Amino acid sequence: MADTDPYFLGLDIGGTKLSASVILDNGEVLNLGYLPLTSLDQLGDSANRLLDSFSIQGAQRVGVAVAAWVSSRSKSPVFSPHRPELIRTDFVKLLGLEGPSRIVVDNDANCAAFSELDLLGDSTTAVVNFGTGIGMAIVQDGELLRGSEGFAGELGHCYAGGVVICECGARGCLESELRACFVTSADTLDVAQTKMSRYVELGAMGLSWVIRILNPREIVVGGGVPLFWENFVGDLIGALPSYIPASQSFTLPLVRPSLHKEYSGSVGAALMARSNLQ
Ligand SMILES: [Zn+2]
Repeated sequence: MADTDPYFLGLDIGGTKLSASVILDNGEVLNLGYLPLTSLDQLGDSANRLLDSFSIQGAQRVGVAVAAWVSSRSKSPVFSPHRPELIRTDFVKLLGLEGPSRIVVDNDANCAAFSELDLLGDSTTAVVNFGTGIGMAIVQDGELLRGSEGFAGELGHCYAGGVVICECGARGCLESELRACFVTSADTLDVAQTKMSRYVELGAMGLSWVIRILNPREIVVGGGVPLFWENFVGDLIGALPSYIPASQSFTLPLVRPSLHKEYSGSVGAALMARSNLQ
């Protein structure tokens, strides 16, 4: 690719890594890969390393997906349980951009939903990310539903009946209960299987709330968990009927994996950068 080709760069700052994608002016998607990201100070260097490996320079606009609550008013992160440093980060400066008009920052689940917008049509869809945190975006008639301040869809911070104190400060959030089920190398096989069964039950319970509240036609499941848990989506579908019995004549939505998988956030962020959304 020539250096002068116009393109839009999408960066997804996850809990542990940075993913990058590029949308060319003709709409073609190019996933650049990902790198570990422990500190946001590395953001500019890491993004440049990913771009350099494809001999790309000078993005027209940059989209940044963040695991944070992004205010509709300020268009910037205002709360992040996992990466509090996101709140004070000057992305324009960190990425060496010429001005704020060159950048769009949005919640990572919103970006993931944006990456699938063309597929979703005129209905209600929820995009639920299972990863370090639990993120959700809601799409209604082809538009992101953001709520009054931009914080709609915080599924992970709804009370799930537990006692674990969440990183957000509340007790028993779905997210903290799910994280308590993460399998570690110290777990025996029995403990690991018990944790995984509980993870699926909690995950399906969370999806049942989404179904009850939104009555969506589709739920798109993304995030890091389905990448290494081969039948995670199938396991969720299998657990759903115990929360929404078929006898209720409630049509269960299509539950499916995300299209762009580990690049959903970065592809969506790049598409946002290309759009006039913000
Ligand atoms: Zn919480």
